[in-house]
Amino acid sequence: MAKKQFKAESKRLLDLMINSIYTNNEIFLREIISNASDALDKRYYLSLTNENYKVDKEDLRILIEADKENHTLTISDTGIGMSEEELDNNLGTIAKSGSLDFKNELEKATKNIDIIGQFGVGFYSAFMVAKRIIVKTKRADSDQAYQWVSSGEDGYTISKIDKENVGTQIILELKEDTDDEKYSRFLDQYEIESLIKKYSDYVRYPIEMEKEISKPKEDNSEEFETVKELSTLNSMVPLWKKSKKKIKPEEYNEFYKSKFNDWQDPQKVIHYAIEGNVSYTALLFIPSKTPYNFYNNDYEKGLQLYSKGVFIMDNAKELIPDYFKFVKGLIDSDDLNLNISREILQQDRQVKQLAASIEKKIKANLEDMLKNDRENYEKLFDNFGLNMKFGIYQDYGMHKDILQDLILYKSSKEEKYVTLKEYVDRMKEDQKAIYYVCGKSVEDIKKLPQMETLQDKDIEVLYLMDDVDEFVINIMQTYADKPFKSVNKGDLDLQSEQEKEELTKTQEENKTMLEAMKDALKDKVIDVKISSRLKQNPICLVSDDGLSIEMEKVLSQGPNAQGIKANKILELNPNHEVFATLKDIYTNDPDLLNDYASVLYDQALLIEGMPIEDPVAYANKVCQLMIKANKKM
Ligand code: ADP
Repeated sequence: MAKKQFKAESKRLLDLMINSIYTNNEIFLREIISNASDALDKRYYLSLTNENYKVDKEDLRILIEADKENHTLTISDTGIGMSEEELDNNLGTIAKSGSLDFKNELEKATKNIDIIGQFGVGFYSAFMVAKRIIVKTKRADSDQAYQWVSSGEDGYTISKIDKENVGTQIILELKEDTDDEKYSRFLDQYEIESLIKKYSDYVRYPIEMEKEISKPKEDNSEEFETVKELSTLNSMVPLWKKSKKKIKPEEYNEFYKSKFNDWQDPQKVIHYAIEGNVSYTALLFIPSKTPYNFYNNDYEKGLQLYSKGVFIMDNAKELIPDYFKFVKGLIDSDDLNLNISREILQQDRQVKQLAASIEKKIKANLEDMLKNDRENYEKLFDNFGLNMKFGIYQDYGMHKDILQDLILYKSSKEEKYVTLKEYVDRMKEDQKAIYYVCGKSVEDIKKLPQMETLQDKDIEVLYLMDDVDEFVINIMQTYADKPFKSVNKGDLDLQSEQEKEELTKTQEENKTMLEAMKDALKDKVIDVKISSRLKQNPICLVSDDGLSIEMEKVLSQGPNAQGIKANKILELNPNHEVFATLKDIYTNDPDLLNDYASVLYDQALLIEGMPIEDPVAYANKVCQLMIKANKKM
């Protein structure tokens, strides 16, 4: 029989499992039972929708057998089973692999044992406790059964076998006990029972095990005998059908981790039932970490869909809008047809109502969290806020009303998060606009010359630090009737009448020099102006009311970047010594003004974090100026 090799990334993971010292290795049982439960779900669903696969609900079960003599733990299910091809595909490779991120994480994994479970490694986790695994399986629609055998390291074999019942049997040949780890504990009746209670109590099919029970002998009640009896270990009530009050936080957490392939507790649980046009129960979770592939195309959004407690499908994406795609969980509705397909899902009126109701609930929960549990909301926002911002930007701002009050920005006041509402509520009485500034980090922003006037006038400024931010603001245009205004775009309109007059006067007095500088810079700028923004710094670069410099930066990274340019304005601080020098040069050595203009422009670009066109020419010009300055001394 030919040995097959595991796919490369699976092999790395397997090595990790085999040599694992992961203290939480007991989770393997949760993973195997979760797979069995899924397989039972699939078979049951098939039986309800296809005449040829009828099965009695009572026959859908999971059986656990602990064989102390042979040191094996066997988990059998009467689920859908696997074909030869499925065995090969499903167990020869990691289900959710393939992505680059995953491999990268794996490379780092030797140092970080927490990777186990993080990617839903599921079945492979059994190699933490087993030295060899045998999987016997027969698919519901097949007469042929197959066996998969592997010791992990050296690949696996698949062969035909005889197996009477449909379903899957997983035989774990446990590792030998060591001083540090007693694998034989997984054969202990009490241990198994408590693991099932802990991790798999809600599984909706009976998990059975033969238990040794002490009983009075029939003929003589004085005497006891030990008998073996099949008993069900789990309560079988799906968690979402239990009363909220009776569910412990750990139960939610374990349920979430086993069902949704996470290794960390969720940050937020949303559990509710609604009676109405479409009645349903929802059990939703918000992860406490951004999934590794969250911003990749292979991230699958959606909720699990159940009807009358019967599993219908995974990742029903119609139930969740893109901007809340971080929400995981399930919906169970008695009103949905079991035969509902993915195609129908898209047009179904009830599904649309469901989705609208779910969206409303999520929004209400997020708002409540923002109001009453700010610290946790801010964490959530750090993880998923960017996605909500994209949501405002998408579809031409159609969803802005839903999302705008969930968005947070750091601001110049205390550098803490603030909502738009909080900003507007504490605006100065005569303040006409919501001011914002773009930059890569708080540190960078604080150094921006454009911030000086606003700081001086004690006006709060929002810090926009994500690429998408300014696009979002552009889509919103206003919040609570207040326009947004960039500190480096157009006219800030912050001066008093007297200040304005002075500015116009200075502008007039220096008109010819400013024009000469503009000519020197050709089409790089649309204007050179006296600035009203600057206090200490000599220059800054701003744009007119159109495309901003920050947007130019973002767009120029895109594929069709050619020709996307902000209309730039070079502003000069009339109170800075450099300004006096410029005036001097203009009168005494006008040719030199060209070099000065060009150097100042390049400096302004550097301050903005933009590349300069010709760094060599810039460096040479600065050197020439240094030499000249020295000669004059
Ligand atoms: P995941 O469950 O996250 O997809 P696993 O590695 O645990 O990843 O399982 C891989 C796949 O193997 C499953 O998706 C399923 O298709 C199949 N599988 C595992 N266990 C069983 C089982 N008991 N019955 C049928 N199929 C199974």
